[in-house]
Amino acid sequence: MELSQRVLALAPSATLAMSQRSAELKAQGYDMINMSVGEPDFNTPDHIKQAAIKAIEDNITRYSPVPGYMPLRKAIAEKLDRENHVSYAPEQIVVSNGAKQALCNVIEATINPGDEVIIPVPAWVSYMELVKLAEGKSVLVPAGIENDFKITPEQLRNAITPKTRMLLLCSPSNPTGSVYSAAELQALVDVLVDYPNILVLADEIYEHINFVGSFTSMGAFPEIADRVVIVNGVSKAYAMTGWRIGFCAAPLPIAKACTKLQGQMTSGPCSISQKAAEAAYTGSQECVAEMCTAFKRRRDLIVELASQVPGWKVNVPEGAFYLFPEVSAYFGKEFEGKVIKDANDLCLFLLEQAHVATVAGDAFCMPGYLRMSYAVSDDTIREAFNRIQTALAKL
Ligand code: PMP
Ligand code: GLU
Repeated sequence: MELSQRVLALAPSATLAMSQRSAELKAQGYDMINMSVGEPDFNTPDHIKQAAIKAIEDNITRYSPVPGYMPLRKAIAEKLDRENHVSYAPEQIVVSNGAKQALCNVIEATINPGDEVIIPVPAWVSYMELVKLAEGKSVLVPAGIENDFKITPEQLRNAITPKTRMLLLCSPSNPTGSVYSAAELQALVDVLVDYPNILVLADEIYEHINFVGSFTSMGAFPEIADRVVIVNGVSKAYAMTGWRIGFCAAPLPIAKACTKLQGQMTSGPCSISQKAAEAAYTGSQECVAEMCTAFKRRRDLIVELASQVPGWKVNVPEGAFYLFPEVSAYFGKEFEGKVIKDANDLCLFLLEQAHVATVAGDAFCMPGYLRMSYAVSDDTIREAFNRIQTALAKL
């Protein structure tokens, strides 16, 4: 079967692939610990589920407007104003099937073939592939553990060329958990003011899983506010990954373009999920704080345990639910005649010998590291490290 060049050039999502592999091993009877996929282990809060049940009973079961129901777009605009101090009219908001589709829409709507998109790496697996689909060029700017995984203003300036169309920034970051402070963002903004044609695509999906106590949105800097597109959604903050609701808040022409694209590709997202998301944004925010407290406790635990692994270098993530240890001390070691050459080999070794699923840093364009999601119970984190220590001792 002949497939398109476009799809042949696309890499499968490594995070979803590792999670799938872990599920397959589990189905074969292995006692797996899945720290590969990034999704909260909590259930969706009850008041949100009730809103969905009511939506079904009220027959909110037909096509919604393509960019989403107006009450939801208003609730999102109010959330952006209240929590992020940014001002977008409801007409500037397009609700999609998860933040992933929102990102895809924005990139498809703004990137022409050959346009450059600056992506600080390590970066989430899908960014580079979405840029590739749009025939743009990802310009990767590396920031390792020694820089707390954050790029400097000088690095940004050096990466800019006449072809630069976009900066894609994720804070709190997947896969590192690093959070840019207001001052660090301001320093990046100070560079961007010199380049008025560069759009900023700010992926703020981990906004609420943030242990520093404050979050600054990229949209909150008046110097560049008219060219910032915010992507966010309910998946992580409200434990709603399966409901598939995300959004972009964008300059009106971009929002309209995203609506046009979505109208041809998928139409408005699930009507019932939209009503659930509206309840999430307008209801009590206590559930968000409770989940964040649990993630902080687990962050402290995983940092403590990972720091005890000989040879691993670990920083203290300030948000999201990922740890991104540097593990190259194990490269070149041998197990049963096979050399562990890189993070992919180490990841496979831990999968097979410890039954712990992680993702190699290579998938995030940063070889030498592993990503571990700690959106699992405290006991699971402890058990994972017992197994990891035992397995690594064999090397
Ligand atoms: N951005 C980042 C950084 C993510 O980690 C994820 C999680 N898959 C997404 C976007 C997509 O979120 P959603 O599940 O809402 O599509
Ligand atoms: N964001 C999650 C992760 O990075 C979900 C999987 C995905 O969509 O890639 O693991």
